[in-house]
Amino acid sequence: MNALLLGLGVFIFTTTALFVLKNLIGGSITTNAWKPNVPYTRLVSESVKFTGSFLADKNIKKYPPFKIYYYKHRKFAGVFNTEVVIYLKSNPDIPSLVNTVLHEVMHYAQSQTDKQYKHYHEFTDKYGYWKNPFEIQARAWAAQNCDACIRYLAEKQLIIKHVNL
Ligand SMILES: [Zn+2]
Repeated sequence: MNALLLGLGVFIFTTTALFVLKNLIGGSITTNAWKPNVPYTRLVSESVKFTGSFLADKNIKKYPPFKIYYYKHRKFAGVFNTEVVIYLKSNPDIPSLVNTVLHEVMHYAQSQTDKQYKHYHEFTDKYGYWKNPFEIQARAWAAQNCDACIRYLAEKQLIIKHVNL
């Protein structure tokens, strides 16, 4: 009887220990990140395409032109001047890349619909970059739409979940 209880105790202890160990190891070495399944130019163009209905709602007839630089910008992940510019190496993962594209598309939309946009730099001088109302709006809109854009890319199998064990 005692041997049986001891055996049961050892079994429960071992099972619990293995369970804890599995979770510890699993938690530390498992990544569950999105990986591109197509070239980055395609990911950027598809993310721009995702904004189509938003642009149409604003009566904007054309997608913004875009280009990709493969080097890292010291300050920005992307910019909008007359086109959307993405600094690929300044975006460490797919969610940041998608967020950057959406952010810059919002600046494009602002430039097409808001007469104040020509004063963008004056707003930055007055409020600073982070509190520039055009920046606040672009950040908020990108944050709101990032997950939906990622789902859109995933449904088209342009990005896939990559699991390392
Ligand atoms: Zn911005």
